[in-house]
Amino acid sequence: MSGVPSNSQLLSFSEARRVVQQQAVKLSPTEPEFIGLLDATGLALAEDLHADRDFPPFPRSTRDGYAVRAADVQIVPVALQCVGTIKAGSDPRAAKLAPGQAVEIMTGAAVPVGTDAVVMVEYTESSGDRVTVKRAVKAGENVVPAGAEARRGDVMVPKGTRLQYTTVAVAAAIGRPEVAVHRRPRVAVLATGDELVDINLPPGPNEIRNSNSYSLAAQVSEAGGDATILPTARDEADDLALLLGKGLQSDLLLLTGGVSMGKYDLVEEVLASLGAEFFFTGAAIQPGKPVVFGQIQHEGRTTPFFGLPGNPVSTMVTFQLFVRPVLDALGGAKPEPLPFAHATLKAPITTKTGLTRFLPAKLGGTHEKPDVERVRWQGSGDLMAASQANCYIVVPPDREKFEAGEAVTVLLS
Ligand code: AMP
Ligand code: MG
Repeated sequence: MSGVPSNSQLLSFSEARRVVQQQAVKLSPTEPEFIGLLDATGLALAEDLHADRDFPPFPRSTRDGYAVRAADVQIVPVALQCVGTIKAGSDPRAAKLAPGQAVEIMTGAAVPVGTDAVVMVEYTESSGDRVTVKRAVKAGENVVPAGAEARRGDVMVPKGTRLQYTTVAVAAAIGRPEVAVHRRPRVAVLATGDELVDINLPPGPNEIRNSNSYSLAAQVSEAGGDATILPTARDEADDLALLLGKGLQSDLLLLTGGVSMGKYDLVEEVLASLGAEFFFTGAAIQPGKPVVFGQIQHEGRTTPFFGLPGNPVSTMVTFQLFVRPVLDALGGAKPEPLPFAHATLKAPITTKTGLTRFLPAKLGGTHEKPDVERVRWQGSGDLMAASQANCYIVVPPDREKFEAGEAVTVLLS
């Protein structure tokens, strides 16, 4: 599908997602590198993380209390002889238990051989070396057997997992100060438009600051990429072609602006003149309808690109819907579904049919009843509305009205 794209490449939201996912699996991930665990947070593992020993490595008490033989405490209350104390980290073999004996034990300590349960301290009374147990326990109660969580050699975190605090904890627990992760994909961000000025310059009366390059760079780094902001391209084919050439040296090129139907929207034309292959040139969504996705061969390499619509909220939404899966694939991360949830609508919504809409909204309420409300907005250029929102209400293309109290789908942002 080379050449100047035709109108037939306007896809539905689901079709566009599918195309992105299909193309994403064809991309080669960046090379692996060994880096420190904390620097690896947010990046995708290039290796499986294996258990270096059993987890837990010993039968672990989950309570402060007394380790006992369950058989000794079936009829209660019962007095046992307390023969010592085992704290977390101490050797349980120090305590030798005969029937009728118990040992004081702390959370996280190894349960001694000969005992099979822990009675919580709350259900005991101690006096000298005697402890009275007031509640019966079952064998195994308050004890996690050795190897119950994982066996030595088991895969605890598979390759392709993006490291975050829970998986960092596993890596730390198996003694991995360094891990193999995929290098952050390099993402070039290229804003286009004669009206744009850089954020450290004063804008003229009819100019605006280039905010998209910064919102995109922030989204890229949140998604584990390494963004480079290129100089802004003028709405002029030669300037655009020159900067495109620079951007194509990255793993992914993101353009913003210049993809609509206006006279100065030159992005597709210039991409086509450089031999781009377009996978789609529009999606039936709002905001973000003119979004473009394709790839281009340049100096012996193939670089995927997105032309994102210039309206600031369109740029943000289309990044989340379409760019994210490509960035995941380039960074070696396994594909993640979009984070959808349901919430109760606080006020009615009326829209037009035909497009899948993503309306900036505020998710709130309680754990028992999450609710959601649109933020007032002036359309896809309204940065203020976007900054107040924490999700988007998703309106399917066949709906023009939702009543207050209805359950709606939200996309978390
Ligand atoms: P375009 O997609 O180029 O037609 O731009 C659509 C709207 O988004 C226009 O109002 C532009 O001024 C605005 N816009 C385009 N690029 C940016 C940018 N980098 N930062 C902020 N606003 C932008
Ligand atoms: Mg423009």
